[in-house]
Amino acid sequence: MITRFAPSPTGHLHIGGARTALFNYLLARRENGRFVLRIEDTDAQRSRPEYTESILGAMEWLGLSWDGEPVFQRARADLHRQRAQWLLDQGRAYWCHCRPEDIEASRQRALAEGGKPRYDGRCRDLGLGPAPGGVIRFKGPLDGQVGWTDLIKGPIVFEASELDDLVILRSDGLPTYNMAVVVDDADMGITDVLRGDDHVNNTPRQILLYQALGAPLPNFGHLPMILGSDKARLSKRHGATSVMAYREMGYLPQALVNYLARLGWSHGDQEIFGLAEMEGLFGLRNVGRSAAVFNPEKLDWLNAHYIKETPPGALGGLLAPFLAARGLAVPGPEVLAKIAATLRERSKTLAEMAAKAEFYLVGLPAIDPASAKKLLTAEGKGILARWREALAVPPGDHGGFEGLLRGLSADLAAKPGAVAQPLRLALTGSTASPGLFEVIDVLGPEAVARRIAAAIALEP
Ligand code: GLU
Repeated sequence: MITRFAPSPTGHLHIGGARTALFNYLLARRENGRFVLRIEDTDAQRSRPEYTESILGAMEWLGLSWDGEPVFQRARADLHRQRAQWLLDQGRAYWCHCRPEDIEASRQRALAEGGKPRYDGRCRDLGLGPAPGGVIRFKGPLDGQVGWTDLIKGPIVFEASELDDLVILRSDGLPTYNMAVVVDDADMGITDVLRGDDHVNNTPRQILLYQALGAPLPNFGHLPMILGSDKARLSKRHGATSVMAYREMGYLPQALVNYLARLGWSHGDQEIFGLAEMEGLFGLRNVGRSAAVFNPEKLDWLNAHYIKETPPGALGGLLAPFLAARGLAVPGPEVLAKIAATLRERSKTLAEMAAKAEFYLVGLPAIDPASAKKLLTAEGKGILARWREALAVPPGDHGGFEGLLRGLSADLAAKPGAVAQPLRLALTGSTASPGLFEVIDVLGPEAVARRIAAAIALEP
């Protein structure tokens, strides 16, 4: 089995493309086949090298490794031209000299007669040769049916009469999409073409080209669309659609890959899958036929899961760029790991984690004014003064933070919560934070003393 992913470098890799890539990857891996990458850059105007870079980077980030070097379609234009010439020689293609306005008129006529806009085949039997502005068209059958058994959608049939003679080589000598894709898929030995169902209408044309070229047909499978929560096709309107945007928002690749797999594929009611596990389980039998709805909450849930699963050391490393992006000084690996350990149970994304980590890394935390009014009263400041004394003693000598807390609350005849909250506010700026013991450990004695002093000095 050889599958391929064939993105056009006219934009970043988006969610739908990434799912197509993932399913092709899994299909090939499952069968110990090959998964190849072809960059469809024949549209010179819209293709950009930076999009190729970005697509390759996104695939690497997701862990979707391809076999061999990426193939660039534009570099294969000679082969496409040769095959077009061969079709001409076989009488399966012809030169067409119609001007764009003639073609438009022919489409309008077809529309007015209640048909689909189509080319009327005017040059089909004229035996024309090359000419400036001329194109080569495929000479399609005028009747009969073209069909295939789709790997996902089942049997699909088109009437040949609905398909007009498509241009295979443009006047600039470059192939059109359908021609290039068939020549390349056939030449690269692709056995299974799995792509978005926006290509269903192209498939009968491609089948006719395969037959005319005498190439064996691959299997075709068309993945249902991905919709937004309002059931409209997923688009920018629904939020971020590019894979790299998710990376920048602090999603982990494992979460995105897991999420994309479940966007259409299922394995019982299991939700959590690693890539390696999926490589063993994936099959098209369990890919749904109906459109999948993109659900950001579920992606968040998976991301929170994978953040929790990531060891603090590694998580700290992942967190670092998100801290830097907030303009915070990034601490060394040991402190980063400690910070990550205190926040990994409470963050849906790395960006959220960085926001929550901010209080650790600033000189003094911004104290929430409403909480300050409530907690930094004369009594609260008295409690803080006691904390300052207690925490000045090396931790080994005071029986640990829990011991200190119990001792202080007994001394002051106050509940542990009432004793802890002023300290929490002084150290973190808020009344909700990771465990105070961990916070004290990350901050270290100097910062703790400085924060307590600043809170005592604060006039709310
Ligand atoms: N370059 C085409 C696209 O990005 C490939 C379609 C196909 O897989 O045949 O839509």
